[in-house]
Amino acid sequence: MLIDSHCHLDMFDDSLRDTIVENANSVGVKYMLNACSARVCFEKIIDIVEKYDCVFGAIGQHPEEAEREGKVSKQDLLKFISKSKKIIAIGETGLDYSGENFNRDLQIENLLNHIEVAQQTGLPLIIHNRDSNDDMIDILSSKFKKQSFKAIIHCFTATKEMADVMLGMGFYISASGIITFKNAADLRGVFSTIPYDRLLVETDSPFLAPVPFRGKTNEPAFVVETAKKLAEITGKTFDEISNISSENFKRLFQLDIK
Ligand SMILES: [Zn+2]
Ligand SMILES: [Zn+2]
Repeated sequence: MLIDSHCHLDMFDDSLRDTIVENANSVGVKYMLNACSARVCFEKIIDIVEKYDCVFGAIGQHPEEAEREGKVSKQDLLKFISKSKKIIAIGETGLDYSGENFNRDLQIENLLNHIEVAQQTGLPLIIHNRDSNDDMIDILSSKFKKQSFKAIIHCFTATKEMADVMLGMGFYISASGIITFKNAADLRGVFSTIPYDRLLVETDSPFLAPVPFRGKTNEPAFVVETAKKLAEITGKTFDEISNISSENFKRLFQLDIK
């Protein structure tokens, strides 16, 4: 069994979603977690997780979306989290300083709200981090010291130092298709050092299709390629990595699924 720990099924055309989910199931991707990027997606994600047994969901707002649509309140997050038992995570949230005129203060304020909701509900956070390692380490560490919370660093592309700090707080590290890219040798090196019991795999579909599908629209079925590469990096078999990453997912979210 494989689990895609981070995809955006809500971003696919409604007419394609049944096929996308079937494609995943047919190659052994038995479950998926639909991460949420914007306030405008909240309702749709509730509908999707209620429709598909094999899809779990998250509620949250991506840092770039916070800039576009205005940040969401804790009350709003809590309201939507409570709408379905299949909402098992908060996010994605985080920091993204890759844009030209990013609003650092607003992103940080929004991240803090998401962290506080994670502390309040006990649900894991899905963290997006791009070009923002220093602030991310400061903010997560200082909040964690006051009250612990669970988190996944999704689509991990940072350094071993960053990984070590995150692992020190008990967080999970998720590998995306980027680990299959030719120029990602350093990142593969980092992944070779991460303890097995903290590894997850994801697509971040429809973005970031792994080799050999680069340039195509990514979909949860393609997480197979990321798991294959992770097996190669860690010296495990594909079946072992599938099993390890699925067990990690189930443990983190306390799910009794087969
Ligand atoms: Zn992200
Ligand atoms: Zn995402």
